[in-house]
Amino acid sequence: MIETVKTIAELRRRLGEWRARNETIALVPTMGALHEGHLSLVRVAKAKAGRIVATLFVNPAQFGPNEDFADYPRDTDGDAQKLENEGCDLLFRPDAEEIYPPGHATKVSVEGLGDILEGEFRPGFFTGVATVVTKLLMQALPDFAVFGEKDYQQLLIIRRLTRDLDIPVVIEAAPTVRDDDGLALASRNAYLTSAEREIAPVLFGTLSQVAENVGRGVDAEEQAAWGLDQLERAGFGKIDYFTVRDAETLEPAAGASRPARVLAAAWLGKARLIDNVAV
Ligand code: AMP
Repeated sequence: MIETVKTIAELRRRLGEWRARNETIALVPTMGALHEGHLSLVRVAKAKAGRIVATLFVNPAQFGPNEDFADYPRDTDGDAQKLENEGCDLLFRPDAEEIYPPGHATKVSVEGLGDILEGEFRPGFFTGVATVVTKLLMQALPDFAVFGEKDYQQLLIIRRLTRDLDIPVVIEAAPTVRDDDGLALASRNAYLTSAEREIAPVLFGTLSQVAENVGRGVDAEEQAAWGLDQLERAGFGKIDYFTVRDAETLEPAAGASRPARVLAAAWLGKARLIDNVAV
């Protein structure tokens, strides 16, 4: 079974041995309940570095008081097996007290970028993410760290914090892995009933259609309103946002001269689905 460490000291000892032999290291942070999306990150990591470290930590700091921390899917043994099969070298699986010992008081928050879209609907979420990712990067000091485009705003926030805090790591983005019908793989898809699962691919279908139309020059705001309407008609519940944004700043899209991204978050039963597509 894959070698597993639970403390920062053990993690550093193991990585120190690799570094002493001039081996390069890539970090793949996850919250577990691993699926093909996560495993694709491991493959991207393997193309970059000689040694791959996955982390499994369901980070309490990024869940709101009414969110699903207690119910979040967990499959520690299955995850370890999948990582082993993928050729991952080490699993870091700390307890909450290892990451947040009593008296832990420091938070990392990315102003602006962290306050909009997901940040607006999930207050505190990105501060939780930015804090734990900063800590994992400082703990492992990897050459590379890999994150999924599935969580596009998160990816931008992590790039920004590594720049702002001068953390010497290269952030690699991995494309979104989808089911055959287009639904982006996500641990929380487990919350969907079979009827909801039938509706769910409409999210990616609509995002793709809007991206194509905006790319052809159709008005972005009009397209975003059309997209939102499509999701409502398909049977989605509350739609937190459906919007076309600048692909780098996530400000409202500035026209054809700049790369843009279509992003949406919408509820389907107990599941909150997010996805995004490049224009
Ligand atoms: P999570 O365990 O959901 O926090 O995700 C851990 C990492 O896996 C993040 O960098 C996510 O963006 C990435 N990820 C999650 N789902 C997918 C997917 N379907 N395709 C690619 N990457 C993903």
